[in-house]
Amino acid sequence: MTTNKKLLVILDPAHGEEVPGKRSPDGRHREYKWSRERLKEVDHLLKALGYTVVWTNESDTETGLSARKRIANTYAKKDSSLVPLLISLHNDAKGNGTAWETATGVSVWTSTGKTTSDIFAGFFIQRISEWMPGVRRRLYKDEYLERDFENDFTVLTGDYFALLIECLFQDNKDDVSLLEDARFCKRVEDWIVDSVEDCNNHVNQKTSK
Ligand SMILES: [Zn+2]
Repeated sequence: MTTNKKLLVILDPAHGEEVPGKRSPDGRHREYKWSRERLKEVDHLLKALGYTVVWTNESDTETGLSARKRIANTYAKKDSSLVPLLISLHNDAKGNGTAWETATGVSVWTSTGKTTSDIFAGFFIQRISEWMPGVRRRLYKDEYLERDFENDFTVLTGDYFALLIECLFQDNKDDVSLLEDARFCKRVEDWIVDSVEDCNNHVNQKTSK
């Protein structure tokens, strides 16, 4: 079968169930679980469209950031006809997880410097308002990524294109309500799939020239 799906999508779920913190102050929202649930749906939807999809971590526990990166690198090297794009899906947090905060919004991160990952991130950012109306887009400078803000950045530095999505704040009450809303979750999944299609179209345009 010939396909115009040129991306190898590498899904990178957040953390693991045993990792401390990474939840709402009242403990009802768990980041590792939310991320895996969304990415499982994204996996189904992308495969139905004809994409090749793999995971850096198929378990519920944390396997370590360098292990995730190593696995992603191995997948990225396997098939030179596909362009590897890693998508890491997280929830943001403003405080240390003990109190409710007010920060809100969605951000998309890439590694430092201007790369194709930034172009891909641009497609995701562009579609935030369409799929998640009313949700604040948080735009940061590339330089911000040089801070040790969240150790997950290790996975952005492999031999593949990579995006880290921070979808709403798990220490914001209103954001947690949205993260618990099935219709909102479906929008997040569709947003990711739609944006992956934009990235794939970009690759197709580049390779047909
Ligand atoms: Zn996280």
